[in-house]
Amino acid sequence: MTKLDRAAGSFRAQAQLALVDAHTQGALDAATARLRGNRIRAWEEQGDIEALRERGREARSRAIRDLPRYLDDFERAFTARGGRVHRAADDAEARAAIVEICRSAGAKLVAKSKSMVTEEIHLNEALEAEGMKVVETDLGEYILQLAGEHPVHIVAPAIEKTAEDIAELLGAVDGEPVEPQLEALTLKARKQLREVFLTADVGITGANFAIAETGSICLSTNEGNGRLVSALPRVHVVVLGMERVLATTRDYAVCLQLLGISGTGQRLTTYSTVLTGPRREGEEDGPEEMHVVIVDNGRGQIRGTRYEEMLSCIRCGACLNVCPIYRKGGGAAYGPVYSGPMGAVLVPLLAKAPDLPHASSLCGACTEACPVKIPLHELLLELRRDLVADREAPWLERLGFTLWSFAWSSSFGYRLSTTLARAGQPLAPLFARPWTRGGQRGIPRLQKRYRDR
Ligand code: SF4
Repeated sequence: MTKLDRAAGSFRAQAQLALVDAHTQGALDAATARLRGNRIRAWEEQGDIEALRERGREARSRAIRDLPRYLDDFERAFTARGGRVHRAADDAEARAAIVEICRSAGAKLVAKSKSMVTEEIHLNEALEAEGMKVVETDLGEYILQLAGEHPVHIVAPAIEKTAEDIAELLGAVDGEPVEPQLEALTLKARKQLREVFLTADVGITGANFAIAETGSICLSTNEGNGRLVSALPRVHVVVLGMERVLATTRDYAVCLQLLGISGTGQRLTTYSTVLTGPRREGEEDGPEEMHVVIVDNGRGQIRGTRYEEMLSCIRCGACLNVCPIYRKGGGAAYGPVYSGPMGAVLVPLLAKAPDLPHASSLCGACTEACPVKIPLHELLLELRRDLVADREAPWLERLGFTLWSFAWSSSFGYRLSTTLARAGQPLAPLFARPWTRGGQRGIPRLQKRYRDR
């Protein structure tokens, strides 16, 4: 069973835990409000943000529409620069390819930088089963690895941890306490990770984008760990979700800008690295071997369907920071990999997760925040329709929607149903207890006539 499979059916139970945990609520509220505020400010400063979003949407749609061609172009260009490409149809093939590369390199220590696709394919477990030590070097991922937990946000994986939590985890590594202050924590983590960068046999990274015309891999990080992981070890392995390819460097310039301003509100992430093959003769640094493992794992079957737009996602996290459900229910409720609105759409497309399309109020805030204009709330509605059509939805829900559709298909049925609803309104609080619990939400009264306000 994959991690994505385990996401199925757990949303309500996990979200309930987060809702009663004041610690998680406080950390989530503060971090998502900060990230959301940064994005809004950066979008305002951008000038014509709508034009930039349109260019991003067009670049991503073009790449997805012609994906097989662009993947072939990428492979040809990357191979011509001395790299090796491996194609993996599913998670098992991806794991096998990467384990084999590490085994051939005689790897004992593997340094990783942040990569959601390696979470998706359970890479760490596979390497550890072969006796290799795997160390996450992104600060958030390192903290979660120490805590034995999974990422809860695609940009800020440890978003639910406070400085006090982090001080406790880092202090336990070497038995030396550390102050819960930003600079002290960073210095401590840097000291602990430095030796890993210097002695790792293989470095593994994900990729924010790949460029077909040049055969380049693009990494965006704020800590510089991506550069160290890709440059210092003798072998570098890139794990690339097949949809992350872009046609041209011009498209990369657009998407790079959108990623920075939408994810964290930065004009650019601190380190934007473009890697085109391994070290060449006469060059002083870079790996001797560079491999790219292109992972399908269900993505190919989304192309050509009405969900194809989801493959345009650039993993900026903006939709998470505005989603009222994510901000209250937390990231763990969506399963261990992709969370928030993008996860609620993507995970059910890759695995069975009937709970997730319901993890939305359909307010549309996610769609408004998405830099590449993915209509997330509409895709969630489509997924709910599929659940009803496939008889996956509970029978009561199916019956309700069937009656509703029947009643509202004629003016007589519409009038009759609204009259009955108004007559039964005094009983509504009995059925809506979960909604009104806590006193923060009520049930508005049905009006006799529609009134334009
Ligand atoms: S769906 Fe849009 S907003 Fe959400 S992570 Fe992807 S690109 Fe960003």
